[in-house]
Amino acid sequence: MIYAQVHLTLPAWASTDIDPLARFDNDEARMRFVAGLARKNVELGTGGPFGAAIFDGDGRLVSIGVNRVMPQNCSLAHAEIMAFLTAQQRLQRFRLNEDGQRYVLVTSAQPCCQCYGASFWAGIDEMQIGARAEDVMSLTEFDEGPLPADWIGELEKRGVAVKRDILRDECRDVLAFYSASGGASY
Ligand SMILES: [Zn+2]
Repeated sequence: MIYAQVHLTLPAWASTDIDPLARFDNDEARMRFVAGLARKNVELGTGGPFGAAIFDGDGRLVSIGVNRVMPQNCSLAHAEIMAFLTAQQRLQRFRLNEDGQRYVLVTSAQPCCQCYGASFWAGIDEMQIGARAEDVMSLTEFDEGPLPADWIGELEKRGVAVKRDILRDECRDVLAFYSASGGASY
């Protein structure tokens, strides 16, 4: 049979445990929230050790994402992609900032080559990153894939500001926790 649709879901706890009207005052508070999503995803066995969220310019939560690759048999289901998909559905547009407002992707780890590419199309104004790619590759088994040498500059040229190393140690801790608790079983 040729499959004619794909249905991706966040874990059930995303509906029950996350306040859809949450608002956070600063970068660290937003990253702490996102690192918490990544940790919870590992603790509850609902996917890999990555979390992401989209916030509007006032710090209000628009969407969350966690890694769902293994539970959903979908190599695309990275945290950033899940956050983009669910933000686009909540706002009912494929380019988030088409309304003239500002949108920020906050991700617990530097986007891989897939999510980096997706970030050009999603309509974000800023990308905030916790752990670096080298953290991911040294603390887990994941290969983040190739990025352009000047990957930050390529985003900035297209209007996406980049901030790195926000709560980097906390985000690294989640990756280490994942590997210590069995790693690739998710
Ligand atoms: Zn990715």
